[in-house]
Amino acid sequence: MSTQLLERPTAITVSGDQSTAGLGGNTITVETATPYRVGAPDIQCRYPVIVGEDQVIGRAYRWHRDWFVITTKGEHNLRRPPKGTPGTDMAAAHLAEEYAAGRIGAVPLDQVLAEAPTPLCGPVPLLHPRMPINDRNIESAQTAFAGLAAHHWRAVLTGFPGSDNHWFLSCELCPWEGPKFWSHLRGRNGEPPSARRHKGGCIGEDKVRRLIPAYQ
Ligand SMILES: [Zn+2]
Repeated sequence: MSTQLLERPTAITVSGDQSTAGLGGNTITVETATPYRVGAPDIQCRYPVIVGEDQVIGRAYRWHRDWFVITTKGEHNLRRPPKGTPGTDMAAAHLAEEYAAGRIGAVPLDQVLAEAPTPLCGPVPLLHPRMPINDRNIESAQTAFAGLAAHHWRAVLTGFPGSDNHWFLSCELCPWEGPKFWSHLRGRNGEPPSARRHKGGCIGEDKVRRLIPAYQ
């Protein structure tokens, strides 16, 4: 999986009343932003935000509409990103600011990776641990798991997290794995989902269509 390189421009802020310019009433603040990048998500769908070579200043994840960050100071809800802004970008910019201000620390990527959970051997639970257990969620989860089986997807760690939430899945037609939304995998208006399946196009749309009865 590729990592995305994000670099924020250096911001120069000049504050003060124009009319007092030159009279000693101005303050000039120069902020040099920290360059950072968003790494590949782990199997809990948490995106590490990395500065320097390998220092993780926090991890960002989505839970339904909100984006959360986990840092050396604990967990914090950033709420919804502005329209058109990816949640990872909003979270990464927030973390870079916090780090530049000295409010959070950094942890080496190796340590973060070593502490990440490993995939389960065998079936995962029906529901994500944060999903309330009720008839509606159980029914949705059963529908989702039947859909995953029919479309050759496998959940590697957690149960159904809801339709519009990241779910770390493994493609059973190729080695790809990563976060997907069930709402994108179930198809729309009676039509099957995109035969491209995921970034990179999997094994090719023709082969996908031949292998999965829903396309025939
Ligand atoms: Zn694939």
